[in-house]
Amino acid sequence: MRPYVVVNVAMSADGKLSTRERRQVKISGAQDFTRVDRLKAGSDAVMVGIGTILADDPSLTVKGEDCRQHRKNRGVCEHPVRIVVDSRARIPLEASILHKGNGLRIVAVSEKADPKKIAALKPVATVIVAGEEQVDLTTLMDELGTMGIRRLMVEGGGELIAGMIRARLVDEIYTFVGNMIIGGRDAPTLADGEGFLAEEEFPWLTLIETRRIEDGVLLHWKVGQPDQR
Ligand code: NAP
Repeated sequence: MRPYVVVNVAMSADGKLSTRERRQVKISGAQDFTRVDRLKAGSDAVMVGIGTILADDPSLTVKGEDCRQHRKNRGVCEHPVRIVVDSRARIPLEASILHKGNGLRIVAVSEKADPKKIAALKPVATVIVAGEEQVDLTTLMDELGTMGIRRLMVEGGGELIAGMIRARLVDEIYTFVGNMIIGGRDAPTLADGEGFLAEEEFPWLTLIETRRIEDGVLLHWKVGQPDQR
């Protein structure tokens, strides 16, 4: 059984995830940070693309002591499984995600990845090979399901989310829209990639909830047509 996939991103009022230089920007405040930390703590695994690792070097650990304790009380590791989608195994061996916090790390690569780099990753991460050129996300989801991952949070960035949406693997999307404009035609957005050309191809969404958080708004979507469409 494939995992239930929840995407979470913060975007500016003009829909950008970061600057055109792919420099990380603080889009949301403390209250939203806590919401995201709880969402992560409630997931079996959290996943990002290699672009996000190279740009931001996140550890993807659960930060709140209460959230970590809650996970331990449930008898699971204090951090979810952390996954990087990285066809050619470009992840630096010193990346924070490979060293900060305990728990399983997975690097998903394609057959194009250098076997020497795969061997170098093995002491710190489980390597899954899926796909010939790029990581085949459907195969990867099947593999994660087999490993017992039921709920997966995808934290970005725009290329990986676009790939997940195109492969129809996303179930829910949270977008926090912050009160600033970042601008730039090359700045990443929620779904980059090739884009869809025809309306018949668009994945439609059903709005579940809108909530004001500090100076922005949280939009919670389910992927799929609303009943009345
Ligand atoms: P990304 O989505 O993190 O990673 C994209 C890379 O994933 C691709 O270039 C590709 O590289 C790899 N990949 C492997 N298989 C794939 C597949 N089947 N489909 C799609 N991608 C696949 O990178 P990004 O779009 O450049 O986003 C990074 C930016 O987003 C950074 O600026 C970061 O700050 C920002 N960000 C913002 C938020 C937010 O909430 N505001 C969250 C996360 C990231 P290979 O072909 O080499 O594998």
